Amino acid sequence: MTYTINFGEISVVSRMYDINVYGEKRTNKLHLFDVETVDESIVKGDSIDFDKSDIAKNLTLFLYPDDSDEQGRLLRIYQQYFMVSNGARLILDECRDKCINTGKTFKNLSDFAVIQINDTHPTMVIPELIRLLTENGDIDGSPITMDQAIDIVSKSCAYTNHTILAEALEKWPVDYLNRVVPQLMPIIKELDRRVRRKYTDKSVYIIDDNNLVHMAHIDIHYGMSVNGVAKLHTEILENTELNNFYRIYPEKFNNKTNGITFRRWLIHCNNGLAKYIETLIGSEYRHDAEKLKDLLKFAGDKNVYDNLLEIKTDNKRNLAEYLKQTQGIEINPQSIYDIQIKRLHEYKRQQMNALYIIYKYFDIKAGNIPKTPVTVIFGAKAAPAYTIAKDIIHLILTLSKVIEADKDVSPYLKVVLVQNYNVTLAEKLIPACDISEQISLASKEASGTGNMKFMLNGAVTLGTMDGANVEIAELVGKDNIYTFGATSDEVIAHYEKCDYNAKKLYETDALIKKCVDFIISDVMLQAGDSHSLNRLYNEIVGKDWFMALLDLRSYIETKEKALTDYDDRYAWAEKMLVNIANAGFFSSDRTIQQYNEDIWHL
Ligand SMILES: *Cc1c(COP(=O)(O)O)cnc(C)c1O
Repeated sequence: MTYTINFGEISVVSRMYDINVYGEKRTNKLHLFDVETVDESIVKGDSIDFDKSDIAKNLTLFLYPDDSDEQGRLLRIYQQYFMVSNGARLILDECRDKCINTGKTFKNLSDFAVIQINDTHPTMVIPELIRLLTENGDIDGSPITMDQAIDIVSKSCAYTNHTILAEALEKWPVDYLNRVVPQLMPIIKELDRRVRRKYTDKSVYIIDDNNLVHMAHIDIHYGMSVNGVAKLHTEILENTELNNFYRIYPEKFNNKTNGITFRRWLIHCNNGLAKYIETLIGSEYRHDAEKLKDLLKFAGDKNVYDNLLEIKTDNKRNLAEYLKQTQGIEINPQSIYDIQIKRLHEYKRQQMNALYIIYKYFDIKAGNIPKTPVTVIFGAKAAPAYTIAKDIIHLILTLSKVIEADKDVSPYLKVVLVQNYNVTLAEKLIPACDISEQISLASKEASGTGNMKFMLNGAVTLGTMDGANVEIAELVGKDNIYTFGATSDEVIAHYEKCDYNAKKLYETDALIKKCVDFIISDVMLQAGDSHSLNRLYNEIVGKDWFMALLDLRSYIETKEKALTDYDDRYAWAEKMLVNIANAGFFSSDRTIQQYNEDIWHL
């Protein structure tokens, strides 16, 4: 199957490839579109030498190209329209095939298909479907009016919001869209005109006073459902972030807490644990994740605890071996594995974890030797244009070097940053984890899914009351999770009142000052890059936009408690058991079933 996809200045020919997705009852086909003219020779090893403006050659080579310059942003619009236009045409072609001899037409599109707009990236599917319907007319040859097309599309599309971070909510300049997809602009303008006719509140307009097109606003006005991805996240959308829309369309809003696939994140990556669970409760849990609750029958069973601890130790040894073989990193399998793996972003607060490490370094130097050594493992990639993120990586690497060289501390504390963090590495790190770091600034992490993967593998969460951590805490109870820090309401109030003052915390709390000052201490400046360390120091003291200093004290206290509790091995094993047993809710099977029951009705 091929389509010709037209842009303002060029056109490309697409080709569809089918990937089989095997399920237990049937096999589905995942349709992927590629460009015939793409030039894969541009990719050399793990580097790429490409001209962002040579669209026909590079359109599908790179997911999420760097958007720090205009060429990169235009390339994203090319990619988005390419995917969306192919998808829209395939949906209409399939609908046409199914409608033959049934008397049904495109007016019945919503009986055949639902388009779940997964974040704002595919939003152009709305104007594109309207364009295709109005330009080409219906299956029976009759014309389709603008009113009818909007009605058809609005019943077929649903939107999932994945973040409230302002920089991630796409707003494309009218000028860019005019250049890349001029055929959509008249439709987007018409959609905006209709909103303006109905509502006086400018904050719900599609095109704002600066000629920016708010993609999420198209989705909310012209879709039938708006969902967040965790209970807390949906509440924040309704009450704060999208409140102006919630007041117009309360019936459209709903929650679908994210899930993860247990096929990958338990059965494949931790088969030792999966098989042991089967000896305890049988194999039903493989099809019905809620059955994991049967594990609670074994609470207090020392033999089961011994086995859980032994499986964890095996996984920790395997990880140590793997890191030594592949990256030359040596870690102590007898130490506590404290792991933070996720994209590098200030809101996820890897910098707060680094400040804890500095605290611990001083504490050990002062003679407080931990009973069990600690290995703090980071895995993260940063966007290439994100300077502060790269400074945080540099801080972690410099701390790792300084601690390694300090013979008073190195036997008890080790800091590791794994190279090239990706899914394959995650599958090895997660089964080996003792403490799962989920320390985002409350209100900023929509859901998180790493938190669920760790819990399922018997790690105990150390986290803020953010995203799905809130639901994890509800499920396992306060004895089986370590929570700390400001609440989302408190954080939202700080942003509203603009009253957060990092400088003041730094100046008034001697412990905070001591930790932050270490970033630019002599020993650090000698081991690392002074420009980068100074820039990060100034960022934290002068701005700290994601409030790492606000929660640092309670983070240190709570983490110390978790590390101490670890030494009561049976009490810890009980926490592991309770976490695994309650993870069933986070199966993506449950998530998909809820999408189907509430939105898709398939
Ligand atoms: C699950 C996963 C993530 C998401 O992690 P969060 O902690 O939810 O941000 C990121 N990267 C990889 C490789 C993952 O497997």
